[in-house]
Amino acid sequence: MNGKSGLLVSNGRVMRAGSDPHDPPVADILIEGSRVAEVGPGLRKTIAESGRDDIEIVDATDHLVVPGFVNAHYHSHDVLAKGCMEETPLETWRLLALPPQYPKRSREEIRARTLLGAIECLRSGMTTIQDMVTLFPFDSDHLDLVVDTYREVGIRAVVALQYADIRGVDTVPFWRECFPEDMHKFLSSAAEPDKNSDQLAYMEEKYLKGGSGNDRLVWALGPSAPERCSPDLIRRTVELSERYGMPVYTHIYESKAMALQARQEYREFDGSLIRRLQKEGLLGPRLNLAHSIWLLPEEIELLAQTNTNVVINPLSNMKLKSGIPPIRQLEEAGVTMGLGCDNCSCSDAQNMFQAMKLFCLMAAISDPDPGPDQAVNAFQAATSGGARTAGMGDELGAIEPGFLADLVLLNLNDPSFVPLNSAVRQLVYTEGGRGVETVIVNGEVVIRDGVLETMDEEAVFQEVADIMPEFLEDYCKVAERTERLRPYIEKAHKRIWAEEVGMNRLFTGR
Ligand SMILES: [Zn+2]
Repeated sequence: MNGKSGLLVSNGRVMRAGSDPHDPPVADILIEGSRVAEVGPGLRKTIAESGRDDIEIVDATDHLVVPGFVNAHYHSHDVLAKGCMEETPLETWRLLALPPQYPKRSREEIRARTLLGAIECLRSGMTTIQDMVTLFPFDSDHLDLVVDTYREVGIRAVVALQYADIRGVDTVPFWRECFPEDMHKFLSSAAEPDKNSDQLAYMEEKYLKGGSGNDRLVWALGPSAPERCSPDLIRRTVELSERYGMPVYTHIYESKAMALQARQEYREFDGSLIRRLQKEGLLGPRLNLAHSIWLLPEEIELLAQTNTNVVINPLSNMKLKSGIPPIRQLEEAGVTMGLGCDNCSCSDAQNMFQAMKLFCLMAAISDPDPGPDQAVNAFQAATSGGARTAGMGDELGAIEPGFLADLVLLNLNDPSFVPLNSAVRQLVYTEGGRGVETVIVNGEVVIRDGVLETMDEEAVFQEVADIMPEFLEDYCKVAERTERLRPYIEKAHKRIWAEEVGMNRLFTGR
């Protein structure tokens, strides 16, 4: 902080809870250490009159100041695969993109991809990234590297290891019977059982018992999906979450296949993964359900009753043909929602503006009747909703005294905001990310006037370029193998779509 003890973000239009989101008032924001100390008009004058010279001024004139966005669902493992694919069903994409399909990656690749993803998030105004880290085979050194990399670039990170103990071939309806047996080994899930290591025990011993010593790092748990985890693994998850007060992230009902799997395999829970998690004690405010597309009305009610959160991922849900989540019903039930940008290989962009806009548009086309103002809801999901998913709703995601100083300044002298008819609607429906100029995380300026201050961005791009030949060679091999599997994939896919699961969340035009 250049020897200064505080920052004053001065004269910006500040988007605060309780103020008019269409016409936010001009105010100053005083930051001391990592937190907001005061918000209000005229603070700059008061500070000048007091003779304090330990405050650095960040001029926010003609800028919109918003809380930093929270990317509430993301995986760093396939950052280098953006732009590699067209639309593809989720179950096919899994075979193209998930780490068990690939040889073990190098340290250089882990570092390059983690940095690149974090920088893209920061440049889109995301100050918190929830990384459901997927390492296969698990290597503690690689997990250390991910955590160190986030610290180096300066982004706030909610890190959850993704784990499972049921093989992929047993988690999708009809896969075991449609594929020849010698191909079963290729039908992996996000995190195949790894008998060589106990990731949860390692994580507790290494990171949880002594605290992290990193005030921008939050540890979380990442059971891959209920149908990929045994009751014993869910029990350990519940115990660890309770012992350390940790948030839990999992995938639920992303595709029709996942709903059908529940109907077929969980008859003792009325074919419901939500009822299973309720019985196992995992539902509650610490649990976050990524996707939540194929939810039944009674399951939505259970989520509302237990204050369980949902994370909507509009970009990947549409590109992977997963369907449209029941946003209106979740809103009506009062379920807290966060927003994520998910994997780079299937969303192609870590861009909260795209996610917010699609959140509104998906809600619009899923109900013929007019609904609530979705721009405000999308903005809340991207900020305070995301903060609540991380268990930080009382200190993150808003610009208020005592809250962590994670702020983004957007240039209002940009065509996106001219004329300024509604700040929040233009933020959600018009802005694409071009206006993001300055990003502050934990009271530190990480991007200033478009320049990344914590690292040499060109050097990071060179690290990526150096690793790409090896990555692309492996990607091509995986893509070729997936082509050979395609007839069997399609056979299973057709059988899944011929079944009933009690709803349809994909627009089929029929
Ligand atoms: Zn995911």
